[in-house]
Amino acid sequence: MTDLARELELLREFGYTHLDIPSVAVGAAPAAEPRGTAAPSLLDELRAVVTACEKCRLAKTRTQVVYGVGNPNADLMFIGEAPGRDEDLQGEPFVGRAGQLLTDIIKAMKLTRDDVYIANVIKCRPPENRNPEPDELDACRPYIRRQVELIQPKVIVTLGRFALQSLTERGYAISSARGQWLEYNGVKVMPTYHPAYLLRNPAAKKEVWADMKKVMTELGIDATPR
Ligand code: URA
Ligand code: SF4
Repeated sequence: MTDLARELELLREFGYTHLDIPSVAVGAAPAAEPRGTAAPSLLDELRAVVTACEKCRLAKTRTQVVYGVGNPNADLMFIGEAPGRDEDLQGEPFVGRAGQLLTDIIKAMKLTRDDVYIANVIKCRPPENRNPEPDELDACRPYIRRQVELIQPKVIVTLGRFALQSLTERGYAISSARGQWLEYNGVKVMPTYHPAYLLRNPAAKKEVWADMKKVMTELGIDATPR
């Protein structure tokens, strides 16, 4: 398939029914972009599509869609499972208790939340924080995959089983997959435990830290403690 056909198929999956394509006079000099009307980035356009999404039943119970946050040019992307209560209310991923722990992990990596990009494989909160259903993961998967394509990070860290399995569409067990480099679409993937699991099992933090040191080294960040 050509790149264009693939792109059009993706857009259709995202719910576009028509495209506004400006006509361009062949050979004419490109018109200067009037100030203040710069085209929204593809990442912002995708946000608009996802914000209006009703492809699965979670649309009925969400307060708001939780699309993603951070640096659109990030070298490092964290991918989690699904919004919880705090995220559903605030519209931002990883802002509750597990989110605070993720923020601490990011700081320990000598980075900030603004340096990285954070998103989930499911954009709407499952009721009572139940596990996402397979059909919900299938419906939402194109969005996280497109976010990865647009951001083009050097490294993806998947947090927990659902993030790893849904992004890659493979049945990895998290206990054996964590800490080992994988590849998704040419991007290096480091699977690790979910911060919510670390809240219940603080002893597993040392394994996550070992995994994050590998990520730091891969990104050229000195992994010795400051
Ligand atoms: N857990 C997740 O997987 N994602 C969030 O955004 C918050 C908690
Ligand atoms: Fe759409 Fe994903 Fe929300 Fe389902 S969870 S309604 S697929 S954005």
